[in-house]
Amino acid sequence: MKILVFNAGSSSLKFGVFDMAIEDCRVMKGEFENFKDSGCTLHYRVGGEQSETRQRHEKPATIEEAIRHVPALLQEFGYEHFNAIGHRVAHGGGEFEEATLIDDDTVRYIESCTPLAPLHNPANLNAIAVSRALWPTLPQVAVFDTAFHHTIPARAYTYAVPKEWRDTGLRRYGFHGTSHKYIALRIAKELSCPVTDLQIISCHLGNGASVCAVNRGFSIDTSMGMTPLEGLVMGTRSGDVDPGMFAYLGRECGLEVQAIENRLYKDSGLKALAGTHDMREIEQKAADGDEDAQLAINVYAYRARKYIGAYAAAMGGLDVIAFTGGIGENSASMRRRICDKFEFLGLHLDDDNNQTVSLKGFEAPQVQTFDSRIKVIVTQTCEQYMIAQETRHLLSQRNIISAQKSWHIPVAVSARHMHLSQKDVEKLFGKGHQLTHLRDLIQTEGWATEERVEVVGPKGSLKNVRILGPARERTQIEVSKTDTFTLGIEAPIRPSGKLDNTPVVKLRGSTGEIETNGLIIAARHIHMSPEDAIRMGLKDGDYVDVRLGAGGRGTVFTNTLIRVKEGYVTEMHIDTDEANAAGIEVKTSGELVKNETRQDVDIIARKNMELDGKNNDTVT
Ligand code: ADP
Repeated sequence: MKILVFNAGSSSLKFGVFDMAIEDCRVMKGEFENFKDSGCTLHYRVGGEQSETRQRHEKPATIEEAIRHVPALLQEFGYEHFNAIGHRVAHGGGEFEEATLIDDDTVRYIESCTPLAPLHNPANLNAIAVSRALWPTLPQVAVFDTAFHHTIPARAYTYAVPKEWRDTGLRRYGFHGTSHKYIALRIAKELSCPVTDLQIISCHLGNGASVCAVNRGFSIDTSMGMTPLEGLVMGTRSGDVDPGMFAYLGRECGLEVQAIENRLYKDSGLKALAGTHDMREIEQKAADGDEDAQLAINVYAYRARKYIGAYAAAMGGLDVIAFTGGIGENSASMRRRICDKFEFLGLHLDDDNNQTVSLKGFEAPQVQTFDSRIKVIVTQTCEQYMIAQETRHLLSQRNIISAQKSWHIPVAVSARHMHLSQKDVEKLFGKGHQLTHLRDLIQTEGWATEERVEVVGPKGSLKNVRILGPARERTQIEVSKTDTFTLGIEAPIRPSGKLDNTPVVKLRGSTGEIETNGLIIAARHIHMSPEDAIRMGLKDGDYVDVRLGAGGRGTVFTNTLIRVKEGYVTEMHIDTDEANAAGIEVKTSGELVKNETRQDVDIIARKNMELDGKNNDTVT
């Protein structure tokens, strides 16, 4: 599949052609900029990432004209044939959690998000409109900067403002999502480690800048908010300011809201502090003794460091700080300043390595010392590649849906339960105690026991929680999200057996009590017999989407792990919250709506499941 990608900004147009069948898949890239009446500058490269970048003058005087010029350019270099177009779209609001096929409804929805990204969405919409007119028969896909951040929890995306404001969509959304997702995957690849094992802080420091806490593959917080104005100091954007400033500027300086917003976007940030938004110039001026430039650098670094510290706390740990974007990739001194003071966390930068970083391609050099507990990695981002991947993924998914037979899978709702180690069985029920078999479960390896345990948290407790036998190596307590509120403890969604860094609860048995970690919300999964797996074209470790429930509450559960093992009876396991969400009361079946093994774009979810495969020792 060949894909053309557009990333249209307010003052430049970037594009790329990707041949997804080959490894070095970006076969052409280009950027039109410096638009004037007399034309613009085109930087372009034909061939893989190692090819030489060239520059020439072109006629287009506007971005719209530049898009119209792309077909001729592609023809000149022999890339005029492609199957689809992917567009970067800044703001997808609360609606779009993943890439979306562009139709009139999608366009209307993106338009409705424009007030949230007034500088960015209009440029993206303009590119979409011209491109739909130029290539009316090709599928076109919108890939949203906000989508990767849909996993940010409510506690992080909620502003403490009146409810009627929040009801209009006023919340934090986050941007640069495609870049942060790419960086997290790139870091995981570099470290040969599942992304789900890593706590990464991704620092995208370009003209626009943001920091993202990627906790085991999922964005849990990011510094840009409802608009791309919040957070770090940027080239011309202020980043965080006191909202009281608006009233002050209106009252004392007679400024209109529109004028204030405009200046916060265009006349603030580095430009306001140092007289230029270009970090190279600022660093030179600072070295020459310019105090404004020195202050700008200090403010910039301090803000970034503050966010990194906050996100390490938000994740409860930190393995990697990743730097990307023009400043993150090129400014060794800015990396040094930002990483200063993290020695208490065990971060030690190797100054020689830091200063000699050279990124010709998509290398990802590490610049910490050998004994540093936290890794610091510098790498280029490639939002266009992510957009091409997401586009390919969406299109192949659509084809598969239309071509695929439908399969029905029985569904069982798992109430809260636990598996105990023999050591814990004896602590709770007395020395030498063996779990008492009550009845068999459908899965041949598991059985319900007579014993019950009380699970006690800081807020409340769950009485009579069922134990499933036989005893396991480690104790694991599986509850629903709702149960975690009863207990007053947050629990992670984990595949069975993946228990590192899980929270501690108290268990009370008939003769004793213990404190143990192992509290999880079980990730949804399907036990599958090898015969069914062959029939459905699936294998262990694949994952699928399953449509469940009927009527108004029917819903599709994505990322459902397939577990294939001799002796398994095919059955999907969901928890009580999931059953309630889909309106399921009794036994039911779900329809498999997709049986494709996803591409790299969903490697995060897949890795999570693969990890499960390694650790999953018994039936849940
Ligand atoms: P955009 O967000 O527009 O894609 P970039 O990622 O290209 O922006 O980053 C632009 C920023 O990177 C500018 O502030 C520029 O000065 C800075 N930059 C580029 N090269 C260097 C360098 N060698 N040293 C310091 N800053 C640099």
